[in-house]
Amino acid sequence: MSAHQRCSRQDSRFVRAVITQVLLAVPGADQHERPADCPLELGDDMYAQQEADKTFVKYTGWRCPYCSKIFVSELYLDKHLDTKHPEEAPTHGRCLADLCPMFGCDAPTCAAATLTAHRRRCRDVMAQCFPQQASPRLYDALALRYCNAFACDGGGRLRLPAPADITLTATVRHWGHYWGSVRGVITAVAVLVLVAFYVVLWLIRRENTMQDDLWQFRRRRRRRQSKVE
Ligand SMILES: [Zn+2]
Repeated sequence: MSAHQRCSRQDSRFVRAVITQVLLAVPGADQHERPADCPLELGDDMYAQQEADKTFVKYTGWRCPYCSKIFVSELYLDKHLDTKHPEEAPTHGRCLADLCPMFGCDAPTCAAATLTAHRRRCRDVMAQCFPQQASPRLYDALALRYCNAFACDGGGRLRLPAPADITLTATVRHWGHYWGSVRGVITAVAVLVLVAFYVVLWLIRRENTMQDDLWQFRRRRRRRQSKVE
C-alpha cells in the first residue's frame, strides 16, 4: 500500500483545519517559536501543496490543478489526485491524519479510558510545542484547558473543546468533509425538479392542445349539422 493510500486526505484536511484555525488561532500561538519536532508544524505536510493548488470554481465544482478536470465534489477530486497524480504529492511527507487519535476525526469511542488517552496525548503534544517554562500562558490555554476539556456529546461523538480564547469550534470544520457529497445531492435534486417541471409543462400544453382540438371538432360538427338542417 502506498503512502497516499495509507494517509486519508479528508482526515488530514480536518487535522490541518483544527491546527490552523483552532489551535494556532489562539493569540500568540502562531507567532510562538515552536521546536522543529512539534507535531503541529505543517512544513512537511504531505498534501500541503496539492491542497493549496486546488481550486473551487463557483457553480462548476473542484478543478484539478494538473489537468483542469472538474469534479462536483472535493472527495472525487481527492480520489482523482490519488489515482492520476500521485507523483505530485511527496511520499516522504508527514501524514497529518496520524494525529487523528488526538483530534477525534476517526470517530473514537467515548469510553473513559479512551478520553483519558486523548487528553494525555493532547497534553504531550501541546507541552512539546509550548513548553511550560517558555510559554506559561499558551501552555495553560492549550496543554491544560484545551486538552483537559475533551468530552463526548449526547450522540456519543468526541467533542473538541473550545475554550473561551479559542474562537472556531472544529465541529463546524468536520461538516466540511460531507459538504461535497451534500452539494452533489442538491445538484441531483435540482436536476430532478427541473425535469419534473418540464414534464408537467409538457402535460399541460398537451392537455390544452387536446381541448383545442376537441373544441374545433365540436365546432365543425355543429356547422355540418346546421348545414344539413
Ligand atoms: Zn487531474
